[in-house]
Amino acid sequence: MKYSLLLTSMLCGSVHAAIQYNLNVEIIQVRDDAGGNPTLLDPSGSGDGYLYQTQVNDIWEQAGVQVTFTNTTWDNTEAQRLTSAERNAVYANTFTSGSGDALPGLGVDTLQLFFVMDHSGTGYNGSAGSGWVGNPLPNPMFSARNAGNFQLFIDGTFSSNGRGVMANEGFTADSLSGTIAHEIGHALGLRHVEDVNGGAGAGTTQDPSYNIGTGTANLMWGAGNGPAYDNGQTVAQNFNLRADQIAAAIHNGLALDPDNNGTGVLQAIPEPSSTLLLGFGSIALLMRRKK
Ligand SMILES: [Zn+2]
Repeated sequence: MKYSLLLTSMLCGSVHAAIQYNLNVEIIQVRDDAGGNPTLLDPSGSGDGYLYQTQVNDIWEQAGVQVTFTNTTWDNTEAQRLTSAERNAVYANTFTSGSGDALPGLGVDTLQLFFVMDHSGTGYNGSAGSGWVGNPLPNPMFSARNAGNFQLFIDGTFSSNGRGVMANEGFTADSLSGTIAHEIGHALGLRHVEDVNGGAGAGTTQDPSYNIGTGTANLMWGAGNGPAYDNGQTVAQNFNLRADQIAAAIHNGLALDPDNNGTGVLQAIPEPSSTLLLGFGSIALLMRRKK
């Protein structure tokens, strides 16, 4: 879970690592049963709805991962506010609402991230007045918060159906990126930095153990831990990944197969550098034949 208070504008990274893998993420904005009252990715109303996609890619590029987003809606009043029991039912594929709707189907080789108004990570407990909808920000112009949960997948240790939930209040769309990228990390088996040296898989490739100082930036610090966001650093530097975290995420992502089609949510793609070399080779060949 990540709970953040950020009053920053994030900078785009300029370092381009070779992209080796694609990860599909379906963003589902949950609306009421009549198709109204949608959860918002951009509560500020600035209209920059999907700018976070670029920054999530800037963050995951350091792992050689390109994130391909699709966006859709799901009409289910009950799912707009999830108690912890209901959230767990989402993770267990058993969620059904009073209106009888089951969960929307998973896409092929895809993670699903449901944007709801409240879930247990926002303080919502099923009672009116709990959570964020019942406790709006005192001044949405100058403060913001978001929270998320993603089912942890560690190959051989924890299974997952590839689903997560998030709620967002007050952030402009491009400031969501750090939390979305963090939740993707959980889906690919990354624990919080402060939790890495324990648990069933500790010390394995899938679940590495390490120690880093609280002043060192990392994507996977839990709520309230790690250094503050530094405007002098790129978004990828603020949300850094270690080599052993990258190795774990790649291993787990290749193994996480919620649609059971034999292919994990990560798919290897050709490296741009090898395509480029092939192109130069062809040009050289043409020049030689002209002579
Ligand atoms: Zn977390």
